[in-house]
Amino acid sequence: MLHYVCTGGCLTVQDSKGFCQATTCCRFRNPLTPCDCTDGYHGNWLFRNHPEPEKARSAAQAEVKKKAVAFRKAHPLTETEPAKKPSTSKHH
Ligand SMILES: [Zn+2]
Ligand SMILES: [Zn+2]
Repeated sequence: MLHYVCTGGCLTVQDSKGFCQATTCCRFRNPLTPCDCTDGYHGNWLFRNHPEPEKARSAAQAEVKKKAVAFRKAHPLTETEPAKKPSTSKHH
């Protein structure tokens, strides 16, 4: 499922188009980048425009991991709806 991430390192991720709202982020007020990853790590996007991406990435490692877990929970891979159970209980 497509979602939008900030590339400035503030870890903003949302389902709809928008702009970075984090005043401390170097991408503040810049549009979010579309991403269609399924693991919640967003490839290299999260720190792509950070002045020190490697440093920021390792500093935020735990937070990124936590968010990835939450992301996968909120966006399960199973796209198909569970099949309806046939109502066979007809004995009265
Ligand atoms: Zn940001
Ligand atoms: Zn993503």
